[in-house]
Amino acid sequence: MAIQCDTLVHNVRIASMQVSGEPYGALYNKALVINDGVITAIADLTDTDTFETLKANAASVVDGNNQWLLPGFVDCHTHLVYGGNRAQEFEQRLQGATYLEIAERGGGIKGTVAKTRTANHATLLESAIKRAKRLCEEGVTTLEVKSGYGLDVDTEIRMLTVAKQLEQHLPLTVSTTYLGAHALPNEFDNDADAYIDFICNDVMPIVAEKQLANAVDVFCETIGFNTQQTEKVFQKAHELGLPIKAHVEQLSDSKGAVLASRYQALSVDHIEYLADSDIVHLAQNGTVAVLLPGAFYYLSEVQKPPVNALRAHNVPMAVATDFNPGSSPLASILTAINMACVQFQLTPEEALRGATIHGAAALGLHDRGVIDVERVADFTLWDIDTPAELAYCINGHRPTAIFKGGKHV
Ligand SMILES: [Zn+2]
Repeated sequence: MAIQCDTLVHNVRIASMQVSGEPYGALYNKALVINDGVITAIADLTDTDTFETLKANAASVVDGNNQWLLPGFVDCHTHLVYGGNRAQEFEQRLQGATYLEIAERGGGIKGTVAKTRTANHATLLESAIKRAKRLCEEGVTTLEVKSGYGLDVDTEIRMLTVAKQLEQHLPLTVSTTYLGAHALPNEFDNDADAYIDFICNDVMPIVAEKQLANAVDVFCETIGFNTQQTEKVFQKAHELGLPIKAHVEQLSDSKGAVLASRYQALSVDHIEYLADSDIVHLAQNGTVAVLLPGAFYYLSEVQKPPVNALRAHNVPMAVATDFNPGSSPLASILTAINMACVQFQLTPEEALRGATIHGAAALGLHDRGVIDVERVADFTLWDIDTPAELAYCINGHRPTAIFKGGKHV
């Protein structure tokens, strides 16, 4: 019987990221059989006849030259659609200006909001393509992008639309997240409760109706929104059938992670100040812990996320760039992987799982981030001796080939 095969990938060492006895879920002497963009079989090549039959039936054959094959990276937390940048503030700060002085000059997040509101669709798209392209070059094939620099109806919609359009310009799947509860806009003049009502009543129904977002996120923090305000947004998201994510415990233990996991959050992100005793709630609700070492580095934070306790409770840990103009202008998933190892003591295997299978789980996407049958054929080839090299070396590697949905891009 002839086996249908669009593309056959052989002569590769596969870091499948499946949970198996092997480090990285490694598979040897196997070939990927790809049809319609999906891995339909993983063939055992120890039998030469099988290989010859497959090869004869394949429309296209890829010889991996004994390189390592990994799932395409999933960067599950970014804010890469925004107007302007904050290089000038960075410069001012290092010349001695304080945060308050910078804020008074119209800088900080409010400065980004002002620049994003005045940026038209084409300008926002053009700058977002440039940023996302850097991630693609390192093998990111799925990217999450949050809104949250518009804070009004029009700009938030524009940001989410631009984010989704990245798919038309780059070999990417984009998962969008509505983060209206990111900061308090000037027009709400210190009335956070009124702004939360506005988000819930005037923005979220539109976002849901137009299917602009795959999830809803809140910045639950002393300088963000309190747990009552956060819960209102979660309740509304549930009502609208949208999954939730949350920025929690980045600067203080505000108990946002417990609240988010009670609402079956896909993920809780940052979590440097998460208490060990709260981790059981993440484990019980299947919530992924997203570690963002770029922000930790950029803010010179010293409090580390509770990695040992997360391990002890088998909570999946994802690693992402948090690419944003203020606290993590990091256009490199490989650097985030390295930082997660150096700063948070993740093993290279944990960090690479964090940017593949666990990153996908943080987006509720279970069809990717792992090399297995019935998963999308998003993968990369690397000229390395061991996957650990990708975590070990800073700016040392680029994939030699990237496949998105089974197509070489
Ligand atoms: Zn963030």
